[in-house]
Amino acid sequence: MDGSALPINLDAKPNDLESFWMPFTWNREFKRNPMLLASAKGMHYRSVDGRDILDGTAGLWCCNAGHRREKIVQAVQQTVEHLDFAPTFQLGHPLPFELASRVLQMLPPGYDHMFFCNSGSEAVDSALKIALAYHRVRGQAERTRLIGRERGYHGTGFGGISVGGIVKNRMFFGPLINGVDHLPHTHDLSRNAFTRGQPEHGAELADELERICTLHDPSTIAAVIVEPVAGSTGVLIPPQGYLQRLRDICDKHGILLIFDEVITGFGRLGTAFATDYFGVKPDLITCAKGLTNGVIPMGGVIAREGIYDAFTEWADNTGNTIELFHGYTYSGHPVAAAAGLATMEVYKEEGLFERCAELAPYWEDAVHSLKGTRHVIDLRNLGLIAGIELESRPGKVGARAYEAFRRCFDKGLLIRVTGDIIALSPPLIVEKGQIDEMFGTLQSVLNDLD
Ligand code: PMP
Repeated sequence: MDGSALPINLDAKPNDLESFWMPFTWNREFKRNPMLLASAKGMHYRSVDGRDILDGTAGLWCCNAGHRREKIVQAVQQTVEHLDFAPTFQLGHPLPFELASRVLQMLPPGYDHMFFCNSGSEAVDSALKIALAYHRVRGQAERTRLIGRERGYHGTGFGGISVGGIVKNRMFFGPLINGVDHLPHTHDLSRNAFTRGQPEHGAELADELERICTLHDPSTIAAVIVEPVAGSTGVLIPPQGYLQRLRDICDKHGILLIFDEVITGFGRLGTAFATDYFGVKPDLITCAKGLTNGVIPMGGVIAREGIYDAFTEWADNTGNTIELFHGYTYSGHPVAAAAGLATMEVYKEEGLFERCAELAPYWEDAVHSLKGTRHVIDLRNLGLIAGIELESRPGKVGARAYEAFRRCFDKGLLIRVTGDIIALSPPLIVEKGQIDEMFGTLQSVLNDLD
């Protein structure tokens, strides 16, 4: 086929910047002054105007093995030439079986099934639905309440924004789903500012779950969902002991605990999943992003032993030929599953999770070298994640960090900002010299900002 006939041109600014309604973007401002990426390789993007941009954010927390990895590209190309699409309702193809098995081998013992979808948001909605249905098939239909957290981010589906705790993601879309409560967030600058790693104070905030249990009667609560490390709301690291305390309270009352590992999954903390890192086992784990290194959209839900069995036993006893009335046309899509399998190979061959663990102390020192830099009121880190919190301009929350974002881009560094917090999460292939470059650029940009 003649490639030039394809409608693809990555190297020029599009003639029409207007038609695409961009997500989570101030569209008017962007279109006045667009920042466009044309290609990517390893640790870098290349902008449409031909500049190399060091990727401080693994795209959007997804390209953990860096960009355009040969093995993954080839897996995608080969698969699409053999099997472009195949359903997985009452029919299947080999790849999602292999991928599920591969991912489960990375987890500590006790997890035995994986469900596939297309994004983190779908993974969250799937996990919430599985939790509700699980209780129902076990004869506990009254367990319908869901508990999230203030400042939690669980994607943008109705389930996710209902349990999520970001005001603007919720306020335009009410009334949301019924029967949801929120635990307080654990962000406490008065006690924990400039902590290296996990904060010392705040485990007792988990006890708020007991209060909610008392308020509603715990036998009405289906599940609690938390991000082990909250990313999108500005990198909130769980206080020491906090997650275990949530686990204990859930166990006491028969409530399922869901870890949303969309950003912590696949090595970000130096272990395959945050469950290993913290030594706390949830009942359900959501993942996406690093599952395919961001190459093809895919998400998943991993279930603890006993959950899948509850559904299959129920179906066997009821004569239903379907156990879980839930799924997506593209659940286990062949091209996505192939990308996932190749991604797992790259992680393993290159020991990227171990590499993350080895780099973490260097990263921590680099993050905290910003202490004393202009505007910086807190620094947080875990694994290869950093949160750099800036003092807001009076009456203009987010303006200072947004300016830092644009200036960094001009200087060849991609960062991510949320409110006045800068979040960094580079690909796990990052070199020490590139870490120095990131923090050097950031420091000079912050020092120059009003
Ligand atoms: N959960 C968490 C913890 C996330 O960080 C995100 C995305 N940043 C999502 C869910 C949603 O994922 P997606 O954008 O793929 O729907």
